[in-house]
Amino acid sequence: MQLNELRPGLEFVLCGQTGPVHAPVFHMSVEVNGKEFKGSGSTKKSAKSKAAEMALKSFIQFPNSSDAYFAMGKFVTADDFTADVSDPQTGFSPFEGNAGDKLASPENSTPTEELRKPQPQNQTQHKNPLMMLNEMRPGLHYKLESEEGQSHSKLFVMSVNVEGTDYKGQARNKKLAKARAAQAVLSAVYNIHPSFQPGYEPIPNSAEPMQAHLELADHIHGLIFNKFNELTAHGNSQYSRRKVLAGIVMTVNGDYSKSQVISVTTGTKCINGEYMSDQGLALNDCHAEILSRRCLMKFLYSQLKLHLGNRSDHSIFEQYEGGGGFRLKDGYSFHLYISTSPCGDARIFSPHEKGPAEDNKNGLGDKHPNRKTRGQLRTKIESGEGTIPVKSAPIIQTWDGVMEGERLLTMSCSDKILRWNILGIQGALLSHFIEPIYLSSIVLGSLYHASHLLRAVHMRLVGIENVHPPFFLNKPLLSGISNTESRQPGKAPNFSVNWMLGEDGLEVTNTTTGKNENGNPSRICKSSLYTHFKELYGRLPSIVPLSDEPIPTYQVAKEMVEDFVRLKYEMMATLEKAGYGMWVKKPLEQDMFV
Ligand SMILES: [Zn+2]
Repeated sequence: MQLNELRPGLEFVLCGQTGPVHAPVFHMSVEVNGKEFKGSGSTKKSAKSKAAEMALKSFIQFPNSSDAYFAMGKFVTADDFTADVSDPQTGFSPFEGNAGDKLASPENSTPTEELRKPQPQNQTQHKNPLMMLNEMRPGLHYKLESEEGQSHSKLFVMSVNVEGTDYKGQARNKKLAKARAAQAVLSAVYNIHPSFQPGYEPIPNSAEPMQAHLELADHIHGLIFNKFNELTAHGNSQYSRRKVLAGIVMTVNGDYSKSQVISVTTGTKCINGEYMSDQGLALNDCHAEILSRRCLMKFLYSQLKLHLGNRSDHSIFEQYEGGGGFRLKDGYSFHLYISTSPCGDARIFSPHEKGPAEDNKNGLGDKHPNRKTRGQLRTKIESGEGTIPVKSAPIIQTWDGVMEGERLLTMSCSDKILRWNILGIQGALLSHFIEPIYLSSIVLGSLYHASHLLRAVHMRLVGIENVHPPFFLNKPLLSGISNTESRQPGKAPNFSVNWMLGEDGLEVTNTTTGKNENGNPSRICKSSLYTHFKELYGRLPSIVPLSDEPIPTYQVAKEMVEDFVRLKYEMMATLEKAGYGMWVKKPLEQDMFV
C-alpha cells in the first residue's frame, strides 16, 4: 500500500461497523502527524484503503514535493539533489522530479537511508504519472481513442475514465499519451500538477502555453532520435556508439507533419593539431552540434542551387524583390537538438548544487554571485574532452607553433552557439547570398538548466551595441524534453558520424585526423563547402557586391562580407569588455587555401 510505503508502521484502527449483517460497512481510521483520516468500505481492507487515500490526498495537495515531504515527516527536500532519487543529471522533466517520483516509486518504500542510495540510471523512465495513478487507483483501463498522421508525425490520443469522467492525453507515442491522460486525472482529481524544479523550466520565445513548447521540444527530439536509430540499424551498428547526439530539424508553419530532419550527428572530440589542414580538408571540431550546423550549411547551399535551375519553387529561399540576395520563405524555422548541454559555459554547473533562485528562496542568497567561472569563454582541448577557460592575455595560435606540439585550442560549443545567436547559423560565406538565419529553438535531451543555458547562449551578449538589421540578438526557445535521455556509459569513441537530408547514409569521420574512414576529406569540410560557394558565386544574385577580380582565397571570401565581419569583432569586443575573456582564433594559415 502506498501510504504504508511512505510511512511504514502506521496503525489503522477499526472505529466502527454499520449497515445490515449481510452488507456491513466498515469504518477505519489512521492518524498521521496528529491528524485523523477516515475511510469506509464493504470490507476492512477497502475501508483501510480509503482512509489511506484520504491521508495521501491531503499530503499531496502541497505545491511542491518538499512541502509534502515535510508534512510526511520526511526531511528530504526537492532541492537536495543528493538525496533525490531522480537522476540529477537529467535535471528536467515535467513528469519527473516532482512529488510524483517520491510518492509513486515502489523503490522508495523504505525510509531515508534507502532514498540516499544511488539509483540506477534507467529508473527515471519508470517514474511517471502513470505509475503514480496506478498505485492510487489500480486497475484503470486506458483506451486508444485515435491515432493520426504518418510514421514520424503520429499523434495518439489515449483516454481513461475515472468516476464517470473521461480524461484524455495526446502525444506522439502511446506511452506518453497514456502518461498525459494519467496526468490529467492527477491534476483534476488529486490536485497534483506537473511542476518544474526551479531552474529547469523551459524558457519560451513566444506567448504560447508551456505545454506547446514542451510538445515542440519532444517533437524535435523524437524526429532526431528516430532518424539516428534508423541510420544505425536500431543500435546494432557499431556507429551507434556515441556520447552526444545532435541534429537540426526544420519545421514549416508549425505543421508537424511537414517537419524535416536536416541533420543528425554524433561526436565529442577535436582534431589532433598535427592533422590540421591548410587546404580546408580536415574537420577541426567534431562535436556533434558543430557538425550538425555544417550539415545545415550544406543543405542551405543545395537550396540556393535550386535557383540556378528553374526549381526555385522547391527552394526554402526566395529572392528579394528588386535587390540582390535571398531570404527564407515565411514559415521555415530551424531547431537544434543536443542530447546534453553544450560544452563550455552552459555545462559549467553542478546539478547537485543549488542555484541562486533556490538559495534565495531559503534566504541564503547565492554564495558565489560573482563567480569568475560564470560566463567565461572556454576552449576545447586538443584530442580530449571538456573545456578550459581562455587566458586573460590574448592567445595567438600559430601554425608552426601547433605543428611543434602546442596544444590546439578550439572555442567551446557554448561559445559557438552564442556566436550563432548574433551572427546567424549560416556563417560568413553564405552571407554573400542570404540574410542571417537564426535558430528558433535549442532543445536539450539532458543536463538542461535554464539559467545556465540562457546565460551561455545569449545573455552574455545583452550589452552588445551596433547591431543592425537584418542582424539581431536571437533568443531561441530553450527547453528540455519530457523523457530525459540517460547518460551514455563507456568511453567516448574516436569517431563521429554525420548524416544530412539528401544524402544516403552516415559518413563516419575520425575525430583525431578530421578525415573520413577512408582517409578522404569529409563532405562537410571547409573545402567542400567552399566548392559549393564557388559554384554559386557570380551566378546567383548576392547581397555583397561582386569583386572585380577573382577571389584569391577562402579567407578573402569571408572577409568580403563586411557587415558580418564588423559584427563579429563587435561581439568579441563585447565579451572582452564584460570580462568573459578573449576569443581564440585558429592559425591564419588555415584559411589561406583557394
Ligand atoms: Zn561541444
